[in-house]
Amino acid sequence: MTIEALDYRTNKPISVHIKNGYIDNITAGNEQLDTSYYIAPGLVDLQINGFKGIDLNTIGLTIADLKTLTQILLEKGITTYYPTVISNSDIATESLLKVIAKACDSFTDVNACVGGIHLEGPFLSIEDGPRGAHSKEFIKAPDWDLFSKWQKASGNRIKIITLSPEWPESITFIKKCVEAGVIVSIGHTAATTQQINDAIEAGASMSTHLGNASHAMLPRHSNYVMEQLASDELWSSLIADGFHLPDSLLKIFIKTKPNKSILVSDATSYADLLPGTYKAHIGGDVELDSNGRLFMKNSPKMLAGSAQSLLWCVNQLIKKQILPLHEAWNMASIKPTESLFGTSTNYLQIEHPADLVVFKKEGDTLKIIKTIKSGRLVFSNSENN
Ligand SMILES: [Zn+2]
Repeated sequence: MTIEALDYRTNKPISVHIKNGYIDNITAGNEQLDTSYYIAPGLVDLQINGFKGIDLNTIGLTIADLKTLTQILLEKGITTYYPTVISNSDIATESLLKVIAKACDSFTDVNACVGGIHLEGPFLSIEDGPRGAHSKEFIKAPDWDLFSKWQKASGNRIKIITLSPEWPESITFIKKCVEAGVIVSIGHTAATTQQINDAIEAGASMSTHLGNASHAMLPRHSNYVMEQLASDELWSSLIADGFHLPDSLLKIFIKTKPNKSILVSDATSYADLLPGTYKAHIGGDVELDSNGRLFMKNSPKMLAGSAQSLLWCVNQLIKKQILPLHEAWNMASIKPTESLFGTSTNYLQIEHPADLVVFKKEGDTLKIIKTIKSGRLVFSNSENN
């Protein structure tokens, strides 16, 4: 297969030749090419709880749900994702992990797109604010034996764990995770600055949705957000949906770590649904307004998670001129793999996997036209063919 489009980094026409699932060659393209089509690496979402009615955290999840979710995400330009399992009862966590593992074992497309599982909890802060929407009853101290049981249930697929280092048990736990090749991300935390630094020394390498799930008021100089922001070791994962962080703060976060910031969607099952009121399986009703903001019906100031895709977040950065197109795209494609593996595994470059997206630029909004996964065309927007 050969794809001709503009290189998203240079705006120059290129021909990308694909063979056996990999990029075989990249040559100069036809100068007469339609200038609104670009080719870029596929998007990689490290934190996603569901989409379009599919909830990865509800008992009753089936392997067919994972298959449907995978196809929906491919249509959104996401070629790799990390299903995110949040704090739940021990037995529910184990059962959800088993469903995801079984889906990977049963369907080659799911297996190809699931980079690993992100376990967000239950070793988080118990305090209101930092705990966010995670249920207090499930929160507990890091427990290696329990984690090992879950890791086994997942078929060794847990690749990222979000935890709070405020628990005395966390340092030993973090070291064991790092030794086992699991990325430790600090999040939902009320940790002291000392505890943050101890966690970094033990091998924590990321901050989960920095700036969200925190107290409403923090000491002005010394606090867990500043300490993570100041660390050269930690990558920042950010929800740039336009609702979770004010633009100015988002700018500051990105400017502080221009090479170590990534976007995550943190999307819930309400993503891509029509505006309206929905019954949440825990807590009260939630409302999705016409702007795409998802909030608690009874306390409209409180967000109820994200209802937007990773592509929406990329578009936000471009529309608001926070970053130029290629840098915004990198934050959601090659930077996430760099944050996990130390080097990007999905560059638009010879010998890299052909996980690619063709998008169209309409004004300052990007629209997915084609998605290629492992060298195979898995989505094509027929309106634009
Ligand atoms: Zn969270």
